[in-house]
Amino acid sequence: MHELAVCQALIEQVESIALARHACEVIEINVQIGPLSGVEPELLKQAFSVACAGTLADGAQLNLASMPIRVCCKTCGEITDALPARLVCGQCGDWRTTIVSGDDLLLTTVEVAVESGPGIASPATQH
Ligand SMILES: [Zn+2]
Repeated sequence: MHELAVCQALIEQVESIALARHACEVIEINVQIGPLSGVEPELLKQAFSVACAGTLADGAQLNLASMPIRVCCKTCGEITDALPARLVCGQCGDWRTTIVSGDDLLLTTVEVAVESGPGIASPATQH
């Protein structure tokens, strides 16, 4: 199952962020999914509930959002939004484009709990 492998990679990434912040628990994970990534949000959620067991991300809330597809035109150089079935330049209509985003999965934010309480972790500034 493709989503399980994707999910395991995601959890590894989340855990390394959590460890770097000395977190004891991950509360919330925000992920953007590109329509061309081939990842089904529902399947990813199911895979997550299995794959998170025993990791720092166990019990975390997984929020999935859709990522816009953006293409870069080889003819005019513009970066524009595109539709999954129509990857053409929004500026000049050329089909010679490269996908800039929308074919991938992006971990946007991770909210973790450190020992002092929940919150978006940032470098410690307390005195
Ligand atoms: Zn163009």
